[in-house]
Amino acid sequence: MIITIDVGGTKISAALIKGTKVIKVRKVDSIIHQDLANLASYLVNLCEGWAEQAFTVAVACTGLVGAERVNFLSANDSLPLKQQLEIGFGLPVVMLNDAAAAAWAEYTLRLDRTDNTLAYITVSTGVGGGIVQNGKLVMADDGFCAHIGHMSVSRPDLPVIECHCGRFNCVEALSSGTAIANQASSILNKGVSCKTVFNEHLSHPEIALLLEQATDSIVELIANIRALTGTRVVVLGGSVGSTNLFQERIKTKLKALPKIYHVELLAPVSGEHADLIGAALYAGSVIG
Ligand code: ADP
Ligand code: ZN
Repeated sequence: MIITIDVGGTKISAALIKGTKVIKVRKVDSIIHQDLANLASYLVNLCEGWAEQAFTVAVACTGLVGAERVNFLSANDSLPLKQQLEIGFGLPVVMLNDAAAAAWAEYTLRLDRTDNTLAYITVSTGVGGGIVQNGKLVMADDGFCAHIGHMSVSRPDLPVIECHCGRFNCVEALSSGTAIANQASSILNKGVSCKTVFNEHLSHPEIALLLEQATDSIVELIANIRALTGTRVVVLGGSVGSTNLFQERIKTKLKALPKIYHVELLAPVSGEHADLIGAALYAGSVIG
């Protein structure tokens, strides 16, 4: 069995996984913004009693995740999490970005897949992704790889918005749940979540335009990814990306692109434990 841990900004989940079957799950609040120094021991404690049954530990983690270290964008220093966890668990540890883990889950679990290249995009609090190219998950030593939310997109009809990373018109600044909520809140003059925008304010003309821009930006991103990787399959997930509104609108808009950019847009199949299962499958393929 494999111990898998999904380290997010608000929640941390851990599971004991056999193949693709989740045997046990535990969930706690995240501490990455409060107590990074104790993260490793927090994770080891969360998995108490499991190490004896497992042969490896797989970690899907938000932020810049290299093979050895992680860097949560809000923290200045990177953390040698792999080494800390190997000492704590007494087991080999494999780390990868959470969206990369979900990409691997989609790639591995999709029985209808005919290509060996696939791009996964998640639109949720932020915009992230993972690329499987010719059967290999694309990664970088410092973890800054496939962070597709920070690819900038331009069209004459898109507004110019500064991203928190310091560049302009990153997809994350135009299409993320946070971006939609922020822009809608200033249009409506009250604080609203992205979910509320989708449920209650779609008939407002300025909000409707906002959603056109958000989905146009994802379409531009998909065209860029297609040009870079040659992928013919794009899986669009995340709380915002999985909505019918995003799926249907983006599918329609993709058809208007020049034919060379056309891809098959799919909803995810790997479910609520995508990151956990993807990390376990990936660690299993690396450790053997
Ligand atoms: P995460 O997926 O990042 O763990 P949540 O799913 O709680 O966190 O929410 C992330 C973002 O997705 C928020 O901006 C939230 O408003 C938005 N969101 C969640 N569910 C929906 C939905 N059904 N429709 C539109 N936006 C949603
Ligand atoms: Zn950015």
